[in-house]
Amino acid sequence: MTAKTVLVSGAGIAGPSAAHWLHRVGYRVTVVETAPGLRPGGQAVDFRGEQVKLLAAMGILDEVRRYETAMGDQTVLGLDARPALTVPGAAWSGEVEILRGDLARILYEHTAGHTEYVFGDRVTALTETADGVEVTFRHGAPRKFDLVVGADGVHSGVRAAAFGPERDFRRDLGFGIAGFTAPNHLGLDHTSVMYNEPGRGLSVGSHRLPDRLHVGLVFAADGVEFPRKTADQRALVARLFADTGWETPKLLEALPAADDLYVDSISQVHLDRWAKGRVVLLGDAAWCAGPGGSGTGLAMMGAQVLAGELAAADGDHATAFAKYEARLRKPATVGQKNGKGAGNFLAPRTVAKIRSRNRAYRMLSTRLFGSIFLKMTDRAANALEYREYPALTAV
Ligand SMILES: Cc1cc2nc3c(=O)[nH]c(=O)nc-3n(C[C@H](O)[C@H](O)[C@H](O)COP(=O)(O)OP(=O)(O)OC[C@H]3O[C@@H](n4cnc5c(N)ncnc54)[C@H](O)[C@@H]3O)c2cc1C
Repeated sequence: MTAKTVLVSGAGIAGPSAAHWLHRVGYRVTVVETAPGLRPGGQAVDFRGEQVKLLAAMGILDEVRRYETAMGDQTVLGLDARPALTVPGAAWSGEVEILRGDLARILYEHTAGHTEYVFGDRVTALTETADGVEVTFRHGAPRKFDLVVGADGVHSGVRAAAFGPERDFRRDLGFGIAGFTAPNHLGLDHTSVMYNEPGRGLSVGSHRLPDRLHVGLVFAADGVEFPRKTADQRALVARLFADTGWETPKLLEALPAADDLYVDSISQVHLDRWAKGRVVLLGDAAWCAGPGGSGTGLAMMGAQVLAGELAAADGDHATAFAKYEARLRKPATVGQKNGKGAGNFLAPRTVAKIRSRNRAYRMLSTRLFGSIFLKMTDRAANALEYREYPALTAV
C-alpha cells in the first residue's frame, strides 16, 4: 500500500512539528513555506512540565538544551531610565528556554531527512475531491494530497483558501510587536533590560551569543497599518520609536542591516472549528493567542495530538480531526485568556499604568508572589497533558 500524503503549509514551529509526528505514523510529508528560507527571528520561548516531556519524546530535548538561553535576572528601568527593580530570570524562562529561531532550525534539521521542504511557494487554491485535495501553488505545478494541514501562522493561506478571509477570524488586540538583533553595545551577559515610555516597551537581552542583543519591541498600534515588505516594516519601527529615550537611538542604528526583523500586530485567531473536510488548522493559524499565550508549546503539542489521533482512527480523518479539536480547544482557550493582557503589560499606555505595572512586577520579585506567579504560568503551560499514543511510541 502506498503511504498517504500530507501537505503542511508553513515551516515555522507547528509545520515541522507536524512533519515529525506525521512521518512517524507513516505519512509522506511535504512542507511548503512562503519565505525563501527558514525565518530566523523571534524572542525566547520557554517550556515547562508537560511540554518538556514532549521535547523528550520528539528526541530534541538535548539539542534544545544545547541552545538554551540560560537567562539570568531582568532589570526593569523606571521612567528616568534608571534601574527600578529586578525580576528573577526564573519568572519567565521556564524549565528550558530557547530562542524561537534556534527552535525553528532544530525542528527543520530534525525533519529534513524525511520531509520534502519547498521554500518560496504557497498554496493558492484547495479543491477537495472524493479521495484527496487538489492543491494549486503560486509557482509549483498542481499536486494532490490526502490531507492538508494549515500550519502557516496568523496570516494563514490555507485558512483563507478553506475557511474564508482573514478578517473573519483575526482579532487585533491594539498593539504591535517587533524584534531584531543588534550588536551588544550594552555588554549584557545572559541578562535583559526592560524600558518603557507610554505605549512603547523595549526589552533587550543577551542570550547565547555574547556579541548580539535581542531587541523586542511592543507598541500601542491604534491606527497602525502593518506592512508586509521588510523595507516598510523597518520604516514603521523607526518611525514609531523615533523619539524614544534610553538606548533606543543606538539600538535602532542596527535596524537597516537586521536580517531577522519580525513585525506584526498582536492578534488572536478565533474559529468555531479547525477542520473542514480533509483540511485542518494547527498552531497560530487555528488558535493564535499572542505573546504570553504559550502558543509555541501548544502548537508543538497539537502536532503530536493530530498525528496520534490520525493513527488511532486508522486514517479516518473526520474522526481524528474531531478528537484533535476536542483535546486542543480548552488549552487553546486558556492560552488566549492569558495572552489577552500581554500588550497592556509590556507597553502600558500611560505613565500611571507603567507605574502600576512596575508595582506588580516588584511583587513578582518577592518569594511569595514569585511562587504564585510561577504556579500560574506552569498551569497555563500544562493545560494540555502530554499523552502517549501507541502508534507514536512504537517506532
Ligand atoms: C519570524 C517569526 C518571529 C516570531 N517572533 C515572535 C515573537 O517574538 N513573539 C511572539 O509571541 N511570537 C512570535 N512569532 C509567532 C510564534 O512563532 C508563534 O506564535 C508560535 O510559535 C506558533 O507557531 P506557528 O508555527 O503556528 O506559527 P509561525 O511560527 O508564525 O509560523 C508560520 C510559518 O508559516 C509561514 N507562512 C505564512 N503564510 C504562509 C503561506 N501562505 N504559505 C506558506 N507558509 C506561510 C510563515 O512564514 C512562517 O514560517 C514569530 C513568528 C515568526 C514567523
